[in-house]
Amino acid sequence: MPDTPFYLDSQPVYFGGFKREYADADFALFGVPFDCTSSYRPGSRFGPDAIREASANIETWSWRTGIDFEDLKVHDLGNVAVVYGDAAETIRRVADTIEDINSTRKVPVMLGGEHLVTLGSAKAIKDCTFVSFDAHFDLRDEYLSNKLSHACVMRRVMEEEGKERIILCGVRATFGEEVRWVKENGIRYMTSRDLLREGAGSSSLWLKERLKNAEKIYISIDMDVIDPAYAPGVGNPEPEGISPTLLLDILGEVIDGRVVGFDLVEVAPHYDNGRTAILASKMIFEICTMIKQARH
Ligand code: MN
Ligand code: MN
Repeated sequence: MPDTPFYLDSQPVYFGGFKREYADADFALFGVPFDCTSSYRPGSRFGPDAIREASANIETWSWRTGIDFEDLKVHDLGNVAVVYGDAAETIRRVADTIEDINSTRKVPVMLGGEHLVTLGSAKAIKDCTFVSFDAHFDLRDEYLSNKLSHACVMRRVMEEEGKERIILCGVRATFGEEVRWVKENGIRYMTSRDLLREGAGSSSLWLKERLKNAEKIYISIDMDVIDPAYAPGVGNPEPEGISPTLLLDILGEVIDGRVVGFDLVEVAPHYDNGRTAILASKMIFEICTMIKQARH
């Protein structure tokens, strides 16, 4: 009998089931298990690890790019030590993490957590156009007397980058005052209805035209942009969303060498049977191979 029981494997689950050396990596992935401002269904703090577990159990080949995610150099940094109840400090830690990753010339990939964590990216990456795929504008000045709420994240990002550097895609859930504010301020957006009517071809042309002069591009995907039929495990599900295929086909056209990072947020895995986390990991595989292809 061996001294060590060799059936036991106490390795943590890395995203994709593997981990390359940091020094050698092109992508640095990390989670932010924070959901303290959730207003409807909390639970996105469990998103990062649920996505990791799903990612280690699905296949990795991308038919869109002809690249195997497993061949990419991805380092999983683990999760940021968040401070529950202190959104400002948590955002500061996210910003520090992104700055560290940028200083080593790797592409940050952030797993939320609630959408507020994207503000950390905006604080760390300047002169960058943020493209948010979301059922919501997230442009309230404050929500429930809180300026650091998931419902205000794109307003705060706009304050960091300027209103010409935010673009919202897939919007369908809002209210009159926000729509008036968006129109008065010339915020650029496409509703989910626009995307569904136009399809991947015209939608991506619209987006590319608006990104023509962008120096850097950051993509933020709030999982609730996807129809709840495909992604029910989110904090604020909204009917009449887009399909994952449409989103990925648009991204396939839009992603180029200017993309400096992306996040996928708002997966709350306890509201479904695991399908939203599986879809999230698949989307991350696809997007990473698109960025890899664009950087060649
Ligand atoms: Mn959002
Ligand atoms: Mn949303």
